[in-house]
Amino acid sequence: MELENMYTQFGVSPAVYRYGEEILRGLQARFDAIDQTAEYNQAKVLFAMQKNRVNAAHFAATTGYGYNDVGRDNLERVYADVFHTEAALVRPQITCGTHALTVALSANLLPGDELLSPVGAPYDTLEEVIGIRESKCSLREYGVTYAQADLKSDGSFDLDAIREKINSRTKLITIQRSKGYATRPSFSVAQIGELIAFCKQVKPDVKVMVDNCYGEFVERLEPSDLGADMVVGSLIKNPGGGLAPIGGYICGTKECVERCAYRLSAPGLGQEVGANLGLMPAFYQGLFLSPTVVAGALKGAIFAANIYERAGFSCIPNASEDRHDIIQAVTLGSREAMVAFCKGIQAAAPVDSYVTPEPWAMPGYDAEVIMAAGAFVQGSSIELSADGPIRDPYAVYFQGGLTWYHAKLGILMSFQKLLNAGLAHLPA
Ligand SMILES: *Cc1c(COP(=O)(O)O)cnc(C)c1O
Repeated sequence: MELENMYTQFGVSPAVYRYGEEILRGLQARFDAIDQTAEYNQAKVLFAMQKNRVNAAHFAATTGYGYNDVGRDNLERVYADVFHTEAALVRPQITCGTHALTVALSANLLPGDELLSPVGAPYDTLEEVIGIRESKCSLREYGVTYAQADLKSDGSFDLDAIREKINSRTKLITIQRSKGYATRPSFSVAQIGELIAFCKQVKPDVKVMVDNCYGEFVERLEPSDLGADMVVGSLIKNPGGGLAPIGGYICGTKECVERCAYRLSAPGLGQEVGANLGLMPAFYQGLFLSPTVVAGALKGAIFAANIYERAGFSCIPNASEDRHDIIQAVTLGSREAMVAFCKGIQAAAPVDSYVTPEPWAMPGYDAEVIMAAGAFVQGSSIELSADGPIRDPYAVYFQGGLTWYHAKLGILMSFQKLLNAGLAHLPA
């Protein structure tokens, strides 16, 4: 078998290759459904690009102030059309997802206002942004308070608690779509829509922001289709399609997005400034490729869950669950197994494949962290990557893959490394 021999070059044994093929035979219907969603989202992106008459002039680099940057301005119209919003801010000057969320929050909350998370604790890095953990320049330092309604023990929304927490000062509600590194489930867009409707019924003028990181193009609808005033994310995750080397986006109402632009640059300047530095081709083409890239990452996540669950490891989401983001957690149960898993992912990479990942004491974490990433864009997690804190339950979070075939190879190599180390067994 040609393909089997090819995999052997990477150290994947014929037995592991065949185990993968057997798993795949059971996944065809789900892969077909993912392809159909990708086809739908491809058409959505394409239609937005055609409507806005994208042409070569939009790919020109600008420098300096970036006044009259037609490529940048048009890209923002394209994003607004893709997410069905009035406006969008899509910029290389937004350095990462946390920065995009910070801009959205700090632009739309004033001293005396309260921010509410109705879905439990937010993503780790937002703790300092909000001031849950003390930090210079946190929202808290500026007189913005924070309230939180935790999820019920089954992961559902605690509507009574949420109603109780909404008060006269509640200005903005933040909903995180993906579970991130928490153990709760990720939310479907439909669930988020119901939550938005509930919050707006309790307080009609409240604004809702959705942290959309890792969720873009996983479904046909986005939270902005169901009432979110802002959706926010990173361009080195899903919507950058692997090509954007930096950046973030905020799509939403004109009112909210204009404030975000004033916050990002300066009051009065707003969206008028901000040179594109030659990144427009990557931003447009990355968005164009994103639905397909996300489909590949989703297939990889489902394949991983099936490979590992059948071998006796618990997976979140499990092998058969619907997907609402591209993240796959696999509970490996030991430090050694986490290291072996990450070694396999690293060894499958196009970049830095010869590097051996080691656990290290990363600033801001209370345990050592291991990471595998051999990416074209540093830190990009739409590219095949895995990481996790070395502590009970010893779970790795696995995501990305610019192509399904690469994700497949990485997963097979990770499993092979566990087998080689005697930390897993091939199911009969
Ligand atoms: C990645 C992520 C962020 C933060 O993005 P960075 O680009 O790492 O700053 C915020 N929220 C969620 C849910 C994420 O997955």
